[in-house]
Amino acid sequence: MIALSLAEIAEVVGGQTHDIPDPSVQVTGPVVRDSREAVPGSLFVAFVGERVDGHDFADQVVESGAVAVLASRPVGVPAIVVDDVQRALGALARRVVTDLGATLVGLTGSAGKTSTKDLIAQVLQRKAPTVYTPGSLNNEIGLPLTALTATEETRFLVLEMGARGIGHIRYLTELTPPRIGLVLNVGSAHIGEFGGREQIAQAKGELVEALPPAEEGGTAVLNADDPLVRAMASRTKAKVVLFGESDEADVRAENVRLTDSGQPAFRLHTPSGASDVTMRLYGEHHVSNALAAAAVAHELGMSAQEIATALSEAGSLSRWRMEVTERPDGVTIVNDAYNANPESMKAALRALVAMGRGRRTWAVLGKMAELGDEALAEHDAVGRLAVRLNVSKLVAVGGIEASWLQLGAYNEGSWGEESVHVSDAQAAVDLLRSELRPGDVVLVKASRSVGLEGVAQALLETG
Ligand code: ATP
Ligand code: MG
Repeated sequence: MIALSLAEIAEVVGGQTHDIPDPSVQVTGPVVRDSREAVPGSLFVAFVGERVDGHDFADQVVESGAVAVLASRPVGVPAIVVDDVQRALGALARRVVTDLGATLVGLTGSAGKTSTKDLIAQVLQRKAPTVYTPGSLNNEIGLPLTALTATEETRFLVLEMGARGIGHIRYLTELTPPRIGLVLNVGSAHIGEFGGREQIAQAKGELVEALPPAEEGGTAVLNADDPLVRAMASRTKAKVVLFGESDEADVRAENVRLTDSGQPAFRLHTPSGASDVTMRLYGEHHVSNALAAAAVAHELGMSAQEIATALSEAGSLSRWRMEVTERPDGVTIVNDAYNANPESMKAALRALVAMGRGRRTWAVLGKMAELGDEALAEHDAVGRLAVRLNVSKLVAVGGIEASWLQLGAYNEGSWGEESVHVSDAQAAVDLLRSELRPGDVVLVKASRSVGLEGVAQALLETG
Protein backbone atom coordinates (compact mmCIF):
# COMPACT_ATOMS: atom_id res chain seq x y z
CA MET A 1 0.00 0.00 0.00
CA ILE A 2 0.96 3.65 -0.26
CA ALA A 3 2.38 4.65 3.12
CA LEU A 4 0.12 6.95 5.13
CA SER A 5 0.54 8.20 8.69
CA LEU A 6 -1.99 7.35 11.37
CA ALA A 7 -2.88 11.05 11.54
CA GLU A 8 -3.57 11.12 7.79
CA ILE A 9 -5.65 7.96 7.97
CA ALA A 10 -7.66 9.31 10.91
CA GLU A 11 -8.41 12.42 8.87
CA VAL A 12 -9.39 10.51 5.73
CA VAL A 13 -11.80 8.25 7.61
CA GLY A 14 -13.04 10.94 10.00
CA GLY A 15 -11.96 8.94 13.06
CA GLN A 16 -10.69 9.64 16.59
CA THR A 17 -7.23 8.48 17.56
CA HIS A 18 -6.94 6.50 20.80
CA ASP A 19 -3.81 5.31 22.62
CA ILE A 20 -1.60 6.52 19.79
CA PRO A 21 1.64 7.96 21.20
CA ASP A 22 2.97 9.06 17.80
CA PRO A 23 0.42 9.88 15.08
CA SER A 24 3.19 10.36 12.52
CA VAL A 25 3.91 6.63 12.52
CA GLN A 26 3.12 5.25 9.09
CA VAL A 27 1.04 2.32 7.98
CA THR A 28 3.05 0.70 5.21
CA GLY A 29 0.58 -2.15 4.73
CA PRO A 30 -0.98 -4.53 4.28
CA VAL A 31 -4.42 -3.59 5.55
CA VAL A 32 -5.87 -6.83 6.92
CA ARG A 33 -9.12 -8.07 8.42
CA ASP A 34 -7.77 -11.48 9.43
CA SER A 35 -5.64 -11.19 12.58
CA ARG A 36 -3.40 -14.00 11.34
CA GLU A 37 -2.34 -11.86 8.40
CA ALA A 38 -1.08 -8.98 10.54
CA VAL A 39 2.63 -8.21 10.03
CA PRO A 40 4.86 -5.27 10.94
CA GLY A 41 3.44 -2.11 9.34
CA SER A 42 -0.13 -3.44 9.04
CA LEU A 43 -3.39 -1.75 9.82
CA PHE A 44 -5.87 -4.24 11.28
CA VAL A 45 -9.54 -3.65 10.49
CA ALA A 46 -11.77 -4.89 13.32
CA PHE A 47 -15.13 -6.09 12.03
CA VAL A 48 -17.82 -7.38 14.32
CA GLY A 49 -19.03 -10.63 12.77
CA GLU A 50 -21.80 -12.97 13.80
CA ARG A 51 -19.49 -15.30 15.69
CA VAL A 52 -16.22 -13.41 16.00
CA ASP A 53 -15.50 -9.84 17.11
CA GLY A 54 -12.33 -8.52 15.50
CA HIS A 55 -11.79 -6.21 18.47
CA ASP A 56 -10.92 -9.26 20.57
CA PHE A 57 -7.76 -9.71 18.50
CA ALA A 58 -6.40 -6.18 19.04
CA ASP A 59 -3.61 -7.23 21.44
CA GLN A 60 -2.62 -10.11 19.22
CA VAL A 61 -2.27 -8.05 16.01
CA VAL A 62 -0.19 -5.41 17.79
CA GLU A 63 2.11 -8.18 19.03
CA SER A 64 2.44 -9.29 15.40
CA GLY A 65 3.60 -5.77 14.50
CA ALA A 66 0.37 -4.08 13.39
CA VAL A 67 0.70 -0.31 13.78
CA ALA A 68 -2.93 0.29 14.75
CA VAL A 69 -6.47 -1.02 14.67
CA LEU A 70 -9.33 0.56 12.71
CA ALA A 71 -12.10 -0.03 15.20
CA SER A 72 -15.57 0.95 16.32
CA ARG A 73 -14.51 1.31 19.97
CA PRO A 74 -11.27 1.91 21.91
CA VAL A 75 -9.38 -1.34 22.43
CA GLY A 76 -6.47 -0.40 24.72
CA VAL A 77 -3.91 -0.45 21.90
CA PRO A 78 -3.30 2.20 19.18
CA ALA A 79 -6.62 2.63 17.39
CA ILE A 80 -8.49 4.89 15.00
CA VAL A 81 -12.08 4.77 16.16
CA VAL A 82 -14.96 5.35 13.73
CA ASP A 83 -18.73 4.81 13.74
CA ASP A 84 -18.76 2.50 10.77
CA VAL A 85 -15.64 0.46 10.06
CA GLN A 86 -16.79 -0.68 6.64
CA ARG A 87 -17.41 2.88 5.45
CA ALA A 88 -14.06 3.97 6.88
CA LEU A 89 -12.30 1.19 4.98
CA GLY A 90 -14.06 2.33 1.83
CA ALA A 91 -13.06 5.96 2.37
CA LEU A 92 -9.44 4.92 2.84
CA ALA A 93 -9.50 2.87 -0.36
CA ARG A 94 -10.99 5.77 -2.24
CA ARG A 95 -8.30 8.12 -1.05
CA VAL A 96 -5.52 5.70 -1.96
CA VAL A 97 -6.80 4.97 -5.47
CA THR A 98 -7.31 8.69 -6.10
CA ASP A 99 -3.68 9.34 -5.16
CA LEU A 100 -2.38 6.43 -7.20
CA GLY A 101 -2.82 7.62 -10.74
CA ALA A 102 -3.31 4.00 -11.85
CA THR A 103 -6.01 3.06 -14.36
CA LEU A 104 -8.93 1.34 -12.69
CA VAL A 105 -10.76 -1.40 -14.53
CA GLY A 106 -14.00 -2.60 -12.94
CA LEU A 107 -15.86 -5.64 -14.19
CA THR A 108 -19.13 -7.31 -13.42
CA GLY A 109 -21.51 -9.85 -14.92
CA SER A 110 -23.50 -12.91 -13.94
CA ALA A 111 -20.85 -15.48 -14.85
CA GLY A 112 -17.17 -15.40 -15.65
CA LYS A 113 -16.08 -12.39 -13.59
CA THR A 114 -13.22 -14.19 -11.89
CA SER A 115 -12.12 -16.03 -15.04
CA THR A 116 -12.11 -12.78 -17.02
CA LYS A 117 -10.47 -10.78 -14.27
CA ASP A 118 -7.68 -13.38 -14.22
CA LEU A 119 -7.33 -13.11 -18.01
CA ILE A 120 -7.25 -9.31 -17.97
CA ALA A 121 -4.63 -9.33 -15.22
CA GLN A 122 -2.43 -11.79 -17.10
CA VAL A 123 -2.64 -9.73 -20.28
CA LEU A 124 -2.10 -6.32 -18.68
CA GLN A 125 0.74 -7.57 -16.51
CA ARG A 126 2.82 -7.90 -19.66
CA LYS A 127 2.57 -4.18 -20.18
CA ALA A 128 2.86 -2.76 -16.66
CA PRO A 129 2.55 -3.66 -12.97
CA THR A 130 -1.01 -4.80 -12.29
CA VAL A 131 -2.91 -5.42 -9.07
CA TYR A 132 -6.10 -7.48 -9.21
CA THR A 133 -8.76 -9.03 -7.01
CA PRO A 134 -7.51 -12.27 -5.49
CA GLY A 135 -10.05 -15.08 -6.04
CA SER A 136 -13.58 -13.68 -5.88
CA LEU A 137 -13.18 -11.00 -3.20
CA ASN A 138 -15.66 -8.80 -5.01
CA ASN A 139 -17.79 -7.24 -2.28
CA GLU A 140 -17.78 -4.07 -0.18
CA ILE A 141 -14.97 -5.43 2.00
CA GLY A 142 -12.86 -7.45 -0.45
CA LEU A 143 -12.82 -4.66 -3.01
CA PRO A 144 -11.30 -1.93 -0.79
CA LEU A 145 -8.87 -4.42 0.74
CA THR A 146 -7.68 -5.29 -2.76
CA ALA A 147 -7.41 -1.65 -3.79
CA LEU A 148 -5.29 -0.98 -0.71
CA THR A 149 -2.69 -3.52 -1.87
CA ALA A 150 -1.76 -1.22 -4.77
CA THR A 151 1.61 0.55 -4.56
CA GLU A 152 3.25 3.54 -6.29
CA GLU A 153 4.41 1.18 -9.06
CA THR A 154 0.89 -0.06 -9.82
CA ARG A 155 -0.32 1.07 -13.23
CA PHE A 156 -3.45 -1.06 -13.59
CA LEU A 157 -5.93 -2.05 -10.91
CA VAL A 158 -8.40 -4.72 -12.04
CA LEU A 159 -11.36 -5.11 -9.73
CA GLU A 160 -14.09 -7.75 -9.78
CA MET A 161 -17.41 -6.27 -8.65
CA GLY A 162 -20.23 -8.49 -7.45
CA ALA A 163 -23.86 -7.51 -6.98
CA ARG A 164 -26.63 -9.22 -5.11
CA GLY A 165 -29.05 -6.34 -5.49
CA ILE A 166 -29.76 -2.85 -6.77
CA GLY A 167 -27.28 -0.22 -5.53
CA HIS A 168 -24.45 -2.66 -4.74
CA ILE A 169 -22.34 -1.90 -7.81
CA ARG A 170 -22.97 1.81 -7.44
CA TYR A 171 -21.59 1.64 -3.91
CA LEU A 172 -18.50 -0.23 -5.11
CA THR A 173 -17.87 2.31 -7.87
CA GLU A 174 -17.95 5.08 -5.28
CA LEU A 175 -15.12 3.40 -3.38
CA THR A 176 -12.98 2.69 -6.41
CA PRO A 177 -14.19 4.71 -9.42
CA PRO A 178 -13.24 2.82 -12.59
CA ARG A 179 -12.21 4.51 -15.83
CA ILE A 180 -12.94 1.34 -17.76
CA GLY A 181 -16.09 -0.60 -16.90
CA LEU A 182 -16.75 -4.05 -18.36
CA VAL A 183 -20.07 -5.89 -18.25
CA LEU A 184 -19.79 -9.53 -19.30
CA ASN A 185 -23.31 -10.90 -19.36
CA VAL A 186 -26.68 -10.90 -17.70
CA GLY A 187 -27.50 -14.50 -16.99
CA SER A 188 -29.57 -16.24 -14.44
CA ALA A 189 -27.16 -16.20 -11.47
CA HIS A 190 -29.00 -15.09 -8.32
CA ILE A 191 -32.16 -14.56 -10.38
CA GLY A 192 -34.22 -15.74 -7.42
CA GLU A 193 -32.89 -12.93 -5.25
CA PHE A 194 -33.09 -10.23 -7.91
CA GLY A 195 -36.55 -11.08 -9.19
CA GLY A 196 -35.73 -11.27 -12.90
CA ARG A 197 -33.23 -10.64 -15.67
CA GLU A 198 -34.30 -7.01 -16.15
CA GLN A 199 -33.50 -6.31 -12.52
CA ILE A 200 -30.14 -8.01 -12.87
CA ALA A 201 -29.40 -5.82 -15.89
CA GLN A 202 -30.50 -2.76 -13.93
CA ALA A 203 -28.04 -3.63 -11.15
CA LYS A 204 -25.06 -4.55 -13.36
CA GLY A 205 -25.55 -1.46 -15.52
CA GLU A 206 -24.79 0.77 -12.54
CA LEU A 207 -21.17 0.15 -13.47
CA VAL A 208 -21.42 1.98 -16.79
CA GLU A 209 -23.52 4.78 -15.29
CA ALA A 210 -20.66 5.52 -12.92
CA LEU A 211 -18.00 5.89 -15.62
CA PRO A 212 -16.53 9.27 -16.52
CA PRO A 213 -17.60 10.72 -19.89
CA ALA A 214 -15.73 9.77 -23.06
CA GLU A 215 -13.82 13.10 -23.05
CA GLU A 216 -12.28 12.11 -19.74
CA GLY A 217 -11.34 8.66 -20.92
CA GLY A 218 -14.37 6.77 -19.63
CA THR A 219 -14.86 3.54 -21.58
CA ALA A 220 -17.70 1.04 -21.28
CA VAL A 221 -16.75 -2.39 -22.61
CA LEU A 222 -19.96 -4.26 -23.41
CA ASN A 223 -20.87 -7.71 -24.69
CA ALA A 224 -22.36 -7.29 -28.17
CA ASP A 225 -23.81 -10.81 -28.04
CA ASP A 226 -25.93 -10.19 -24.94
CA PRO A 227 -28.92 -7.91 -25.70
CA LEU A 228 -29.37 -6.81 -22.10
CA VAL A 229 -25.70 -5.83 -21.86
CA ARG A 230 -25.66 -4.12 -25.25
CA ALA A 231 -28.62 -2.02 -24.23
CA MET A 232 -26.52 -0.56 -21.42
CA ALA A 233 -24.81 1.63 -24.04
CA SER A 234 -27.67 4.10 -23.57
CA ARG A 235 -26.96 4.37 -19.85
CA THR A 236 -23.45 5.79 -20.10
CA LYS A 237 -21.61 8.93 -21.21
CA ALA A 238 -18.46 6.90 -21.65
CA LYS A 239 -17.15 5.71 -25.00
CA VAL A 240 -18.64 2.31 -25.84
CA VAL A 241 -16.51 -0.58 -27.06
CA LEU A 242 -18.31 -3.79 -28.06
CA PHE A 243 -16.85 -7.29 -27.93
CA GLY A 244 -18.32 -10.58 -29.08
CA GLU A 245 -18.84 -12.82 -32.04
CA SER A 246 -21.34 -10.42 -33.61
CA ASP A 247 -20.17 -8.57 -36.74
CA GLU A 248 -20.86 -5.25 -35.06
CA ALA A 249 -18.37 -5.91 -32.30
CA ASP A 250 -15.20 -3.77 -32.27
CA VAL A 251 -13.24 -6.66 -30.80
CA ARG A 252 -14.43 -9.97 -32.19
CA ALA A 253 -13.62 -13.59 -32.76
CA GLU A 254 -13.73 -15.35 -36.08
CA ASN A 255 -13.41 -19.04 -36.87
CA VAL A 256 -14.16 -20.08 -33.30
CA ARG A 257 -13.55 -23.78 -32.71
CA LEU A 258 -12.53 -26.24 -30.03
CA THR A 259 -9.20 -28.01 -30.53
CA ASP A 260 -9.09 -31.79 -30.12
CA SER A 261 -8.15 -31.28 -26.52
CA GLY A 262 -11.23 -29.11 -25.93
CA GLN A 263 -9.49 -25.76 -25.81
CA PRO A 264 -10.98 -22.83 -27.70
CA ALA A 265 -9.14 -21.35 -30.65
CA PHE A 266 -10.10 -18.34 -32.75
CA ARG A 267 -8.84 -15.40 -34.76
CA LEU A 268 -8.90 -12.23 -32.68
CA HIS A 269 -9.88 -9.07 -34.53
CA THR A 270 -9.28 -5.66 -33.00
CA PRO A 271 -9.65 -2.20 -34.59
CA SER A 272 -5.89 -2.19 -35.10
CA GLY A 273 -5.16 -5.68 -36.36
CA ALA A 274 -5.80 -9.39 -36.00
CA SER A 275 -3.97 -12.36 -34.52
CA ASP A 276 -4.61 -16.05 -33.72
CA VAL A 277 -5.38 -17.32 -30.23
CA THR A 278 -5.32 -20.91 -28.92
CA MET A 279 -6.26 -20.93 -25.29
CA ARG A 280 -4.91 -23.12 -22.51
CA LEU A 281 -8.21 -22.80 -20.65
CA TYR A 282 -11.03 -25.25 -21.37
CA GLY A 283 -14.56 -24.45 -22.49
CA GLU A 284 -15.97 -22.24 -25.25
CA HIS A 285 -17.38 -19.77 -22.73
CA HIS A 286 -13.80 -18.55 -22.36
CA VAL A 287 -13.96 -17.12 -25.89
CA SER A 288 -16.31 -14.45 -24.63
CA ASN A 289 -14.14 -13.89 -21.55
CA ALA A 290 -11.02 -13.64 -23.72
CA LEU A 291 -12.66 -11.12 -26.06
CA ALA A 292 -13.66 -9.01 -23.09
CA ALA A 293 -10.09 -9.09 -21.81
CA ALA A 294 -8.81 -8.26 -25.30
CA ALA A 295 -11.14 -5.26 -25.57
CA VAL A 296 -9.86 -3.88 -22.26
CA ALA A 297 -6.22 -4.47 -23.19
CA HIS A 298 -6.67 -2.93 -26.63
CA GLU A 299 -8.21 0.12 -25.03
CA LEU A 300 -5.11 0.36 -22.85
CA GLY A 301 -2.81 0.40 -25.84
CA MET A 302 -1.83 -3.21 -26.42
CA SER A 303 -1.60 -4.64 -29.94
CA ALA A 304 -3.64 -7.58 -31.23
CA GLN A 305 -0.51 -9.66 -31.34
CA GLU A 306 0.57 -8.88 -27.79
CA ILE A 307 -2.93 -9.64 -26.57
CA ALA A 308 -3.21 -12.88 -28.56
CA THR A 309 0.10 -14.15 -27.19
CA ALA A 310 -0.91 -13.31 -23.63
CA LEU A 311 -4.33 -14.97 -24.00
CA SER A 312 -2.75 -18.08 -25.49
CA GLU A 313 -0.42 -18.42 -22.54
CA ALA A 314 -2.88 -17.47 -19.80
CA GLY A 315 -3.84 -20.08 -17.23
CA SER A 316 -6.45 -20.10 -14.53
CA LEU A 317 -5.42 -18.26 -11.40
CA SER A 318 -8.37 -19.46 -9.36
CA ARG A 319 -9.23 -22.99 -8.23
CA TRP A 320 -11.84 -25.50 -9.36
CA ARG A 321 -12.66 -23.86 -12.67
CA MET A 322 -12.23 -26.48 -15.40
CA GLU A 323 -9.16 -27.82 -13.61
CA VAL A 324 -7.96 -30.73 -15.74
CA THR A 325 -5.87 -33.45 -14.07
CA GLU A 326 -4.78 -36.75 -15.54
CA ARG A 327 -4.56 -39.74 -13.19
CA PRO A 328 -1.66 -42.17 -13.56
CA ASP A 329 -4.11 -44.77 -14.93
CA GLY A 330 -5.17 -42.42 -17.75
CA VAL A 331 -8.48 -41.29 -16.27
CA THR A 332 -8.91 -37.53 -16.76
CA ILE A 333 -10.74 -35.55 -14.08
CA VAL A 334 -12.17 -32.13 -14.99
CA ASN A 335 -12.95 -30.28 -11.77
CA ASP A 336 -15.35 -27.44 -12.54
CA ALA A 337 -17.04 -27.66 -9.17
CA TYR A 338 -16.50 -24.01 -8.25
CA ASN A 339 -19.93 -23.01 -9.45
CA ALA A 340 -22.57 -23.62 -12.09
CA ASN A 341 -25.28 -21.85 -14.03
CA PRO A 342 -27.14 -22.94 -17.17
CA GLU A 343 -24.68 -21.24 -19.51
CA SER A 344 -21.58 -22.69 -17.93
CA MET A 345 -23.11 -26.17 -17.54
CA LYS A 346 -23.70 -26.28 -21.28
CA ALA A 347 -20.24 -24.93 -22.07
CA ALA A 348 -18.65 -27.46 -19.73
CA LEU A 349 -20.55 -30.35 -21.35
CA ARG A 350 -19.35 -29.25 -24.79
CA ALA A 351 -15.77 -29.02 -23.54
CA LEU A 352 -16.09 -32.50 -22.01
CA VAL A 353 -17.24 -33.96 -25.28
CA ALA A 354 -14.51 -32.22 -27.30
CA MET A 355 -11.88 -33.38 -24.82
CA GLY A 356 -13.26 -36.91 -24.68
CA ARG A 357 -13.49 -37.65 -28.38
CA GLY A 358 -13.10 -41.40 -28.77
CA ARG A 359 -13.13 -41.86 -25.00
CA ARG A 360 -15.87 -42.61 -22.49
CA THR A 361 -17.21 -39.38 -20.99
CA TRP A 362 -18.91 -38.93 -17.63
CA ALA A 363 -20.84 -35.86 -16.54
CA VAL A 364 -21.16 -35.82 -12.76
CA LEU A 365 -23.55 -32.93 -12.23
CA GLY A 366 -25.39 -31.41 -9.30
CA LYS A 367 -27.91 -28.66 -8.96
CA MET A 368 -27.68 -25.12 -10.28
CA ALA A 369 -28.84 -22.92 -7.41
CA GLU A 370 -30.91 -19.73 -7.32
CA LEU A 371 -32.82 -20.20 -10.57
CA GLY A 372 -36.22 -19.42 -9.10
CA ASP A 373 -39.10 -20.39 -11.39
CA GLU A 374 -36.72 -21.44 -14.15
CA ALA A 375 -35.10 -24.20 -12.11
CA LEU A 376 -37.05 -27.15 -13.48
CA ALA A 377 -36.76 -26.13 -17.13
CA GLU A 378 -33.05 -25.32 -16.85
CA HIS A 379 -32.12 -28.63 -15.21
CA ASP A 380 -34.24 -30.49 -17.73
CA ALA A 381 -32.43 -28.67 -20.58
CA VAL A 382 -28.99 -29.61 -19.25
CA GLY A 383 -30.02 -33.27 -18.94
CA ARG A 384 -31.29 -33.22 -22.51
CA LEU A 385 -28.13 -31.57 -23.83
CA ALA A 386 -26.00 -34.29 -22.23
CA VAL A 387 -27.86 -36.85 -24.34
CA ARG A 388 -27.75 -34.78 -27.52
CA LEU A 389 -23.98 -34.35 -27.16
CA ASN A 390 -23.62 -38.09 -26.64
CA VAL A 391 -22.06 -37.90 -23.22
CA SER A 392 -21.52 -41.56 -22.26
CA LYS A 393 -22.82 -41.40 -18.71
CA LEU A 394 -24.68 -38.82 -16.66
CA VAL A 395 -24.47 -39.07 -12.88
CA ALA A 396 -26.94 -36.60 -11.32
CA VAL A 397 -26.04 -35.95 -7.69
CA GLY A 398 -28.33 -34.69 -4.94
CA GLY A 399 -32.00 -33.90 -4.40
CA ILE A 400 -34.91 -32.85 -6.57
CA GLU A 401 -32.86 -30.80 -9.05
CA ALA A 402 -30.72 -33.84 -9.77
CA SER A 403 -33.83 -35.84 -10.54
CA TRP A 404 -34.85 -33.13 -13.03
CA LEU A 405 -31.45 -33.46 -14.71
CA GLN A 406 -31.90 -37.19 -15.01
CA LEU A 407 -35.47 -36.88 -16.19
CA GLY A 408 -34.41 -34.46 -18.94
CA ALA A 409 -31.83 -36.99 -20.12
CA TYR A 410 -34.35 -39.78 -19.97
CA ASN A 411 -36.98 -37.88 -21.94
CA GLU A 412 -34.52 -36.80 -24.60
CA GLY A 413 -33.63 -40.29 -25.66
CA SER A 414 -34.77 -43.23 -23.54
CA TRP A 415 -31.36 -43.41 -22.08
CA GLY A 416 -32.04 -46.00 -19.43
CA GLU A 417 -28.85 -46.99 -17.69
CA GLU A 418 -26.76 -44.22 -19.20
CA SER A 419 -28.13 -41.80 -16.64
CA VAL A 420 -28.27 -42.43 -12.94
CA HIS A 421 -29.41 -40.38 -9.97
CA VAL A 422 -27.49 -40.76 -6.72
CA SER A 423 -28.41 -39.12 -3.45
CA ASP A 424 -25.10 -37.57 -2.42
CA ALA A 425 -21.43 -36.99 -3.18
CA GLN A 426 -20.30 -40.15 -1.38
CA ALA A 427 -22.63 -42.30 -3.46
CA ALA A 428 -21.23 -40.68 -6.60
CA VAL A 429 -17.67 -41.41 -5.50
CA ASP A 430 -18.54 -45.04 -4.71
CA LEU A 431 -20.18 -45.52 -8.09
CA LEU A 432 -17.34 -43.94 -10.04
CA ARG A 433 -14.65 -45.82 -8.13
CA SER A 434 -16.13 -49.10 -9.22
CA GLU A 435 -17.00 -48.08 -12.79
CA LEU A 436 -14.17 -45.89 -14.10
CA ARG A 437 -11.86 -47.41 -16.69
CA PRO A 438 -8.51 -46.13 -18.01
CA GLY A 439 -9.07 -43.43 -20.60
CA ASP A 440 -12.37 -42.16 -19.19
CA VAL A 441 -12.95 -38.41 -18.88
CA VAL A 442 -15.00 -37.19 -15.91
CA LEU A 443 -16.51 -33.70 -15.57
CA VAL A 444 -17.58 -32.68 -12.06
CA LYS A 445 -19.78 -29.59 -11.83
CA ALA A 446 -22.53 -28.05 -9.70
CA SER A 447 -23.31 -24.85 -7.85
CA ARG A 448 -20.99 -23.80 -5.07
CA SER A 449 -23.38 -24.84 -2.31
CA VAL A 450 -23.29 -28.48 -3.46
CA GLY A 451 -19.55 -28.76 -2.79
CA LEU A 452 -18.86 -31.33 -5.49
CA GLU A 453 -15.14 -30.55 -5.49
CA GLY A 454 -14.92 -33.29 -2.84
CA VAL A 455 -15.92 -35.80 -5.53
CA ALA A 456 -13.16 -34.60 -7.85
CA GLN A 457 -10.63 -34.73 -5.03
CA ALA A 458 -11.67 -38.22 -3.89
CA LEU A 459 -11.38 -39.50 -7.46
CA LEU A 460 -7.90 -38.03 -7.80
CA GLU A 461 -6.79 -39.59 -4.54
CA THR A 462 -7.91 -43.06 -5.59
CA GLY A 463 -6.27 -42.82 -9.02
P1 ATP B 1 -18.90 -15.55 -8.65
O1 ATP B 1 -20.18 -14.77 -8.76
O2 ATP B 1 -19.03 -16.82 -7.87
O3 ATP B 1 -17.73 -14.73 -8.21
P2 ATP B 1 -17.82 -15.35 -11.34
O4 ATP B 1 -18.73 -14.45 -12.08
O5 ATP B 1 -16.58 -14.77 -10.80
O6 ATP B 1 -18.60 -16.11 -10.18
P3 ATP B 1 -16.22 -17.48 -12.48
O7 ATP B 1 -15.75 -17.86 -11.14
O8 ATP B 1 -15.25 -16.96 -13.45
O9 ATP B 1 -17.48 -16.50 -12.40
O10 ATP B 1 -16.95 -18.72 -13.14
C1 ATP B 1 -18.03 -19.33 -12.45
C2 ATP B 1 -18.59 -20.42 -13.31
O11 ATP B 1 -19.13 -19.86 -14.50
C3 ATP B 1 -17.52 -21.39 -13.73
O12 ATP B 1 -17.96 -22.66 -13.39
C4 ATP B 1 -17.36 -21.22 -15.21
O13 ATP B 1 -17.35 -22.46 -15.84
C5 ATP B 1 -18.58 -20.44 -15.66
N1 ATP B 1 -18.28 -19.36 -16.63
C6 ATP B 1 -17.12 -18.69 -16.79
N2 ATP B 1 -17.23 -17.79 -17.77
C7 ATP B 1 -18.49 -17.86 -18.26
C8 ATP B 1 -19.22 -17.16 -19.28
N3 ATP B 1 -18.66 -16.21 -20.02
N4 ATP B 1 -20.51 -17.52 -19.47
C9 ATP B 1 -21.10 -18.48 -18.74
N5 ATP B 1 -20.46 -19.17 -17.78
C10 ATP B 1 -19.17 -18.87 -17.51
MG1 MG C 1 -15.95 -14.54 -8.92
